[in-house]
Amino acid sequence: MKVSVIGTGYVGLVAAAGFADHGNDVVCADIDEGKIERLRKGEIPIFEPGLDVLVERNIKAGRLNFTTDNAEAARHGEVIILAVGTPSASDGSADLSYLFQAAADIGKHLDHYTVIVNKSTVPVGTAERVARIIGEHTSQEFVVASNPEFLKEGTAVDDFMSPDRVIIGTDDDKARDLLRHLYKPFTRTNERMVYMNARSAEVTKYACNAYLATRVSFINDMANLCDLVGADVGSVRQGMGSDPRIGNKFLFPGVGYGGSCFPKDTRALINTAREHGLSMSLVAAAERINDAQKLLMVRKLRAMTEDVAGKTFCLWGLAFKPNTDDVREAPALRIARTLLNDGAKVRLHDPEAGPNFLETLGKTDGVELVADQYEAAHGAHGLLLVTEWRQYRSPDFNRLKEGLVEPVIVDGRNQWDRGQLESMGFRYSGIGR
Ligand code: NAD
Repeated sequence: MKVSVIGTGYVGLVAAAGFADHGNDVVCADIDEGKIERLRKGEIPIFEPGLDVLVERNIKAGRLNFTTDNAEAARHGEVIILAVGTPSASDGSADLSYLFQAAADIGKHLDHYTVIVNKSTVPVGTAERVARIIGEHTSQEFVVASNPEFLKEGTAVDDFMSPDRVIIGTDDDKARDLLRHLYKPFTRTNERMVYMNARSAEVTKYACNAYLATRVSFINDMANLCDLVGADVGSVRQGMGSDPRIGNKFLFPGVGYGGSCFPKDTRALINTAREHGLSMSLVAAAERINDAQKLLMVRKLRAMTEDVAGKTFCLWGLAFKPNTDDVREAPALRIARTLLNDGAKVRLHDPEAGPNFLETLGKTDGVELVADQYEAAHGAHGLLLVTEWRQYRSPDFNRLKEGLVEPVIVDGRNQWDRGQLESMGFRYSGIGR
């Protein structure tokens, strides 16, 4: 099938390469000329495990092509997938300007029947708005369907190639059949397509992210109680998770959720509800808890060291989670900014996200990005484990202790053994244990 994908970000590029890998003829468009130039040379602008191999294979096979011209994408696809960003606007609503611009571009150049698929995360009713915009520019027959994406950065390729479910949101039989055909190879072993109308599909995506965000804030709230009452949230988590109605996944206490989805999507959902006169107080509480949780490590550090001003602290892990270089709304940004405002310096390490982090932080005074994790900790007055990359799981604690000026560790991911570290002379603080 001829497929066009608009937007070559974490979602668009993975989807384009994934569809191409199943034999489809894919054109992937982006307005970012630098990105397209790199992609044409076979360079991947983001870090996502397995994506380089997938992209390279399909470029070589001639099934995956890149363009900066949305008109070319509009003329190419029987299916056109919109995967542009929908960031937060200043009032918390989803900024749909990129999506509407892409819709207008497509509308101007449609020359055949097309199913346009909204894969970006968008508020309820957006498929209808996109259809209106396209319709203002064309007399061609077309359908706009909703097909929210559920891939997770860090495992995006596997998630896309073997999805838990594929949600097809449309009332149009012809569009549904075309999308069923497109996705069939991805759900061959067992049927995982869920059909609904576009509005329900749009709400489903927000419902999933809001639920997961609430779960994170719930366990973080429990962890904070455990801290106060001498309980261990690790045991509580196990006890809770063994109930099949609860389950043990996605129930890890930590430094709060970040990333390009949960924060903006909870805000957008609350905003949509508000527009309809509904106060989503549960999701709003999850957001408030998360906001406070992002600074928990700094509060712990302040309690463990006499004064942070004039001292240097080392952060291990800058990406919002392991296996990605995405730092959007990463807790490490809040932590670094707060320490810098307190008059401290920071030495930073991350296997992939360092450059993105520095660019987003936008400050250089008192900030040093170091290529080696032990070198980063050398001379620091404490170590903060913010993101649990695998290489931080079993570090050489002797080497760490020799390098640190003060043996202070704040373990924001409960990765390490308090007993072991205390017996080595570290002062240790975890989350809720
Ligand atoms: P991204 O910021 O990584 O990429 C978006 C891309 O769209 C950019 O390269 C940008 O240049 C391009 N773009 C913007 N306007 C354009 C236009 N008019 N024409 C062509 N290209 C244009 O975003 P992302 O993380 O891939 O997310 C895309 C959407 O998918 C968002 O709505 C997001 O909420 C949703 N989503 C993201 C994830 C994730 O893990 N990142 C998961 C599921 C859903």
